[in-house]
Amino acid sequence: MLYIGSHISSSKGYAAMGKQAIKLGASTFAFFTRNPRGGKAKEIKESDIEKYLEIAKEKQFGSIVAHAPYTLNACAAKEDLRVFARETMADDLRRMEYIPGNYYNFHPGSHVGQGPEAGIEKIAEVLNDVLQPEQRTTVLLETMAGKGSEVGRTFGEIRAILDLVKLQEKMGVCLDTCHVWDGGYDIVNDLDGVLEEFDQVIGLGRLKAVHINDSMNPLGAHKDRHAKIGEGYIGFDAFVKIINHPALRHLPFVLETPNDDEGWAKEIAMLRKAYREA
Ligand code: FE
Ligand code: FE
Ligand code: ZN
Repeated sequence: MLYIGSHISSSKGYAAMGKQAIKLGASTFAFFTRNPRGGKAKEIKESDIEKYLEIAKEKQFGSIVAHAPYTLNACAAKEDLRVFARETMADDLRRMEYIPGNYYNFHPGSHVGQGPEAGIEKIAEVLNDVLQPEQRTTVLLETMAGKGSEVGRTFGEIRAILDLVKLQEKMGVCLDTCHVWDGGYDIVNDLDGVLEEFDQVIGLGRLKAVHINDSMNPLGAHKDRHAKIGEGYIGFDAFVKIINHPALRHLPFVLETPNDDEGWAKEIAMLRKAYREA
């Protein structure tokens, strides 16, 4: 069973997201917990959650992958920005408890000249503040393209953050194919080698989700411009290998490709066709 889906707008609530996922032929999906630029989250309605959970059960959705606002920077130099990151994450994690057992993915942050080590420490500090022993959500660090001063551009930086987190069992990693490609990991010619390195540095057990995006730029470009599946430098054949790889094939795959609904439905169908049922 291939768990695949796209980003879905959360503006109409959870049941609406579930219905939209079905329309696209998806079996998982991602959503922004609030306006991607931050701001207040929508109020949670218990009846909406109940309806959503029914849909998810009936349609056997895989784990879904919530996305923190991308403006959130847990290692900002300015304290008020770090406070915003901490409060937003804490609030998001409280809200995630309404749909237990899913994932909350975030961009580690940009160190903006403080250096990666300082960034890594600040990110772990925020995580140590917001993670709760009783939470049922796993928080995912996303692998980054290394644009500007992004932290998480190498598996080693991700590992260094994880090492400083106290509640390690609440943490996982989301691998973004465009980002690792832009970061210099050759998933086209050496997928096995990249995954072996991931296993040695981080551990494949930590890998919980994949953002499946083609890239508009060549290997190691550090640009982070997503392309449609098969229309970038990664190419369709590499994605067929990725979704079928024994280390990945059971994970939720989330499309963040530049598409409308029709485009996502097409990509979902295309990848389903290329998936070999075990
Ligand atoms: Fe992301
Ligand atoms: Fe991503
Ligand atoms: Zn990206």
